[in-house]
Amino acid sequence: MALRFYNTLTQRVEEFAPLEGNTVRMYTCGPTVWNYAHVGNLRTFTFVDLLRRWLRYRGYRLDHVMNITDVDDRIIQQALAAGKTLTEYTEQYTQAFLEDCAALRLERPERLTPATEHIPAMVKLIAGLRAKGCTYDSEGSIYYRIASFPEYGKLSHTDFSGIRAGARVDTDRYDKADARDFALWKAPKPGEPFWESEIGPGRPGWHIECSAMAMHYLGETLDIHVGGIDLVFPHHENEIAQSEGLTGKPFARFWLHAEHLILESQTMSKSLGNFITLRGVLSQGYPPEAIRYLLASVPYRKRLNFTADNPKAAATAVERLRNFELRLKTEKFPEGASEWLQVRAEQARQRFEESMDDDLNTAEALAAVFEFVREANTAMDAGDFRSANVPPALDLLERFDRIFDVLRPSEHAGGLSDAAVEALIAERAQARARRDFARADQIRKQLAEQGVILEDTKDGTRWKRH
Ligand SMILES: [Zn+2]
Repeated sequence: MALRFYNTLTQRVEEFAPLEGNTVRMYTCGPTVWNYAHVGNLRTFTFVDLLRRWLRYRGYRLDHVMNITDVDDRIIQQALAAGKTLTEYTEQYTQAFLEDCAALRLERPERLTPATEHIPAMVKLIAGLRAKGCTYDSEGSIYYRIASFPEYGKLSHTDFSGIRAGARVDTDRYDKADARDFALWKAPKPGEPFWESEIGPGRPGWHIECSAMAMHYLGETLDIHVGGIDLVFPHHENEIAQSEGLTGKPFARFWLHAEHLILESQTMSKSLGNFITLRGVLSQGYPPEAIRYLLASVPYRKRLNFTADNPKAAATAVERLRNFELRLKTEKFPEGASEWLQVRAEQARQRFEESMDDDLNTAEALAAVFEFVREANTAMDAGDFRSANVPPALDLLERFDRIFDVLRPSEHAGGLSDAAVEALIAERAQARARRDFARADQIRKQLAEQGVILEDTKDGTRWKRH
């Protein structure tokens, strides 16, 4: 069976091959760097990493672009409140995001690039839409006229034909009930950053950056567009309207969306709060590979229920595979080969590959590997595992790890990084704000154990190492 993906656009599982040659042109909506990434965001990026690795496993080359949203309503508000420029404010969270990605072993896209470096491409796209009559101006802002794009709603499979023509929305994020003409270019407001341009002074809306950056680097029709399920509407619907409104060509052939991560109610909110950063989870002593494994183990179109226990279960699973690898590499086995084990290794490899080809069914792929590991361990204990059974077993593990990448232990850096300390302090502030003083105290103690002393002042929490 060929490689196939569920396409949100057609609501069907379809065979995948790139449009041109052997290179997959792919775009991912990146993080908005206004705060630390939530583990739920990182689930989407972990899925993207698995997708990249699997496409390469199947012999494709990648040209993958991911944006970093470093200007939007929330960033501007937060930067103003902190008395910082946009760049000063977003730099710290961009850095934190890159550290999280590195901890989770997420490959860098071929191009990872901030929105604010592509304002001219956005202006050009808006000017093009304006020339085609897809926009109108109001009070210095430019809006996309949804009525000019009759296919609006085709990705979310929603009939928007009844919406009021001319009703506008100014915020970047809104509910389905609020489908309206959205801002492409926002008029400058006092104190806010803006750019001078041929379409007037202003700043881009959130949606336009993805259309502009994707088409700038990858051409008018992408092979794959990826994002979290919460982006289907309005963000991706708007990306389609902006891009296809201009080119008249399909913007992306395949739309892949990763489901939500759900926090198990009670246990989880007590131990970690509703705001879970990777740093928060890692500070509880779990290795990053366990979290990578956990995020990868549930197929991306299923909701992932993140409980207080499942990082532990994931760590145990990773440990089991490492122990098996260690046995293969260090034990002395009798000469020869047990034929049935050679067959089982080959079957496991096939099932692993078929499962990944099947819309990245990671649960099934892992089951194939673990079933073989169990049988092989039993055979080792019984003296039935022989020296010639080692290479196919190692080959299976190598193929597994090319995608899952959890067998090599991380080097533990001594102590918490500054960013990790800041993340925990942010979590503590949230815990205090919702009067969860037990959690706030727990974080204070945890930091104290790492040699970090907190001091609460009227301007917020200061900290130092001792
Ligand atoms: Zn986007």
